[in-house]
Order: sequence, then structure tokens, then C-alpha cells
Amino acid sequence: MIISVASGKGGTGKTLVATSMALSLKDKGKVQLLDCDVEEPNAHIFIKPVLIRKEAVSIPIPKVDETRCNYCGKCAEVCAYNAIAVIKEKVLVFPELCHGCGACSYLCPEAAISEEGKEIGLVEIGSSNGMEFVHGKLNVGEAMAPPVIRKVKEHINPKRTVIVDVSPGTSCPVVESIKGSDFCLLVTEPTPFGLSDLVLAVEVARKLKVPCGVVINRTGLGDGKVDDYCYGEGIPILLTIPLDSGIAYLYSRGTPLVEGIPKWKETFLQLFSNIKEIVDGRDSQD
Ligand code: SF4
Ligand code: SF4
Repeated sequence: MIISVASGKGGTGKTLVATSMALSLKDKGKVQLLDCDVEEPNAHIFIKPVLIRKEAVSIPIPKVDETRCNYCGKCAEVCAYNAIAVIKEKVLVFPELCHGCGACSYLCPEAAISEEGKEIGLVEIGSSNGMEFVHGKLNVGEAMAPPVIRKVKEHINPKRTVIVDVSPGTSCPVVESIKGSDFCLLVTEPTPFGLSDLVLAVEVARKLKVPCGVVINRTGLGDGKVDDYCYGEGIPILLTIPLDSGIAYLYSRGTPLVEGIPKWKETFLQLFSNIKEIVDGRDSQD
């Protein structure tokens, strides 16, 4: 089973939930944690893995052979990202805008475009006391997170329960990370900002046809509108975590919640079994 842990908004406690669930499951069976928040991976701070392997991530960038080019402009016409332009008798490539989709080289009538790899990040693979761990790191200044996320997800071990820590927001990296999950846990906080971003995150999960449930972090803060929204939309609230200075202190020290306050382990195991029940229930309906 693959469970992605997402949040429409940064700073809601997504990594706290992902690492706590992974660490709680570790003693019960085989678990793998993937940190797909490649712009700012931080699960390793809590998991403290031993990293044993690195893999570079590259995307193919077009390289134009101007001896073959007739400056027809087809490449610029088909590029959806304005990453290639033809100005008089010159073809300009803007690598920072290129998504490496290959459309320009495929459609060039003169076969004047070849591709060269541009390194945009890396994936590191390791483990921590029997838990498999993989995270991706996008190079500073690069904008193409999805290829790094895809590379992280190539390491999904189907024999393990997989927890995916998703980047915040609702853009392409989030879609790429949630895609293919059996369940998406959305972590939010009970504030108007939390609700507004939760609504968008629910839309993403629904578009991807991934069932979702909510964790409300820092309860006691804000109002009850997140609860009202979830009840109205039929989205289960699977866990609430109180606003607690002890939890914040552990997080600030890089101490996993379930190690600092071991009673939380049972709570996260219960959360996992509730998710499993929902996923199994859907599978039996299909
Ligand atoms: S499509 Fe090919 S031939 Fe046409 S301008 Fe681009 S590189 Fe040159
Ligand atoms: S590879 Fe795709 S994104 Fe990059 S320049 Fe060519 S068409 Fe544009």
C-alpha cells in the first residue's frame, strides 16, 4: 500500500505525520519512506538514515545543429514552455525553462536537434534500522521538481508499506508525488488559511482519483470550519493533534514525535489501520 502525506500549505506538520507513521510501522512490518519534497527534503533529520547510494537526475535539453537547421520555427511553435526560440537565423535554447519533453527534437523536420543531459538534482538511497529510505534533492536554482520526484518513486518497493512525504502546495510536484497512491492523507490546521489550502488539496486528490482523509494539526487554534468542511464533503477526519509546546519542542530538535512521546506510536498505528480499512473497503467494492 502506498500512502502519500500531503498538505495544501507549508508548515502544517506533514513531515511530522509522515515520519511518525513510518517509524510507528517500522516494528510491525516492512516499511519504506520516500521524501518527495525535493525542494526542501527534511524527513532525514528525523529518520537519521545511513545513505549508501546516490544517483544523479538529468533531463534531456535540446542541442541544435545549425548546419542542418533551416530556421523554420517548428521547434519554437511546438514548445509549450517557451524554452526554445527562433530569431532570424539563430535558435536560442533556454535550459532553465526546458521540461525535457523531447517534442522539439521529435518534430524537427531537419533532424537538427539532438539532446544532451543536464543534471538537475540527485536521489539518495539508504535505510534506518530496517526502514528503507529514499529522498530527492533538486539543485538550487532548478525549477523542474517532477523528474527528481519520478526518480525517487522509481525506488518504490512493492513489498513494503510505502509512505510518501509530498511537497506542500497543489502544483505539479504535488500531483507527481500523489499519483499512484492508494490513499492520500491531507494534513491541515484549523485556520482559514488551512481550510482554503485544504479545499485545493482535496480537489487534487479527487482529480487523481485517490481517496483522502484529513489530519488536523494544532487543534485548539483557529475555528471549527475545517471540521464543518470535512463533514459536509464526507471526508473522514482520521486524527487530530493538539497545539502542544512539547510536540513543537521535539520537532524543533529533530526528535521524532513517537520517540519523544512514545504513547503517540499507538495513535499512529491506529491511524494506519483506519486507512487500511478504507483502502481495503474500496478494493472490495471494485
Ligand atoms: S524545427 Fe529544426 S529546423 Fe526548424 S528551426 Fe527548429 S531546429 Fe531548425
Ligand atoms: S524539450 Fe520540450 S520543453 Fe524543452 S525546448 Fe524542447 S519542446 Fe521545449
